[in-house]
Amino acid sequence: MLRPYLNVKQNFGFGCMRLPMKGSEVDLEEFQKMVDYFMKNGFNYFDTARVYTEGKSELALRECLTKKYPRDSYVFANKLSSPLFSKEEDLEPLFNKQLESTGLTYFDFYLLHAVGKRNYSKYVSCKCFEFMKKLKEEGKIKHLCMSFHDTPEFLDEILTNHPEIEAVQIQFNYLDYDNPNVRSKECYEVCVKHNKPIIVMEPVKGGSLVNLSPKAQKIFSSLNGGSNASYALRYVSSFDNIFMILSGMSDMSQMQDNLSFMKDVRPLSSLEMHAVENVVNTIKHEKSIPCTKCRYCVDGCPMGINIPEIFSCYNSSIVYESWTAKAEYNKITEDSSKASDCIKCGQCEEACPQHIKIREYLSIIVSHFEN
Ligand code: SF4
Ligand code: SF4
Repeated sequence: MLRPYLNVKQNFGFGCMRLPMKGSEVDLEEFQKMVDYFMKNGFNYFDTARVYTEGKSELALRECLTKKYPRDSYVFANKLSSPLFSKEEDLEPLFNKQLESTGLTYFDFYLLHAVGKRNYSKYVSCKCFEFMKKLKEEGKIKHLCMSFHDTPEFLDEILTNHPEIEAVQIQFNYLDYDNPNVRSKECYEVCVKHNKPIIVMEPVKGGSLVNLSPKAQKIFSSLNGGSNASYALRYVSSFDNIFMILSGMSDMSQMQDNLSFMKDVRPLSSLEMHAVENVVNTIKHEKSIPCTKCRYCVDGCPMGINIPEIFSCYNSSIVYESWTAKAEYNKITEDSSKASDCIKCGQCEEACPQHIKIREYLSIIVSHFEN
């Protein structure tokens, strides 16, 4: 495990993808409070990427973390994202910009970002592995890692070809454990086979395991008062080989809730595990779109369709039976494209780490909201 080599205090990290926002800017006052609270409570792992909130996550971390705390008091993970370079020569300037934006001279963890079949050949042809090995030799990164969104077979192939990868970040939560589109269990097992510590992303599936439907909520509410997030995070904690669990907390109340049980985390009891199984079965029957609102699909859409927001309206309509969902749909598509504007080019599906059949869902949504 990596933990003995690092200054990691707890196996729970602050995922800085969905930060508190004021309009289109990060709410630095709220974020500062969250960073301070996190550090004060003995947690110190921060995860970001240059693509998060269009570069604003890196800048916010400079303002609220790296300017204020000694370098050896926190652990900083950043990523090399394939949309941000087109050739080998771009890598060094990109990395230097990341150091500058974060105010750092090195990253503790540097991950190839969202590796899958669609971008792996680019990472190889642009010599990203060689570049990261060089950074490690120069002390500019401490650990060469990867975040991964594809099949376990492909993960096995990459880890066999690249033993230099020290840890793997995978999507892992109770709903995706045996989800055939995500296959978290099998990806987990491949990491174990290769003896790689695991960093978990999306333990609450972009918030969808927190905002449950009334039917699923009823199951957890019949337990002893734990939050929905607590069941999701404690579920993940009960697996060995998990070095770090990242939670993308967006406000202070989420952070206070998360830290309250992650500080001294208890495994789920058999009663709670049974409730989780019931919630999984309930959600599977509800047929909501498993979108985590990561927005990776949005930039490449030639029609400018706000896919995650449209999916969110649809989920509100079918899962929560929200009577305002159609009005919300009309509002968000008033000045931008509708589901019916989709030209079925498929670019969004190539970018979607959840492997959602976006075009099919958009057609359903046309019938649901527009016809
Ligand atoms: S398939 Fe439709 S939604 Fe997806 S990128 Fe193309 S136009 Fe946009
Ligand atoms: S559809 Fe896929 S890529 Fe787009 S926001 Fe949802 S999960 Fe992310």
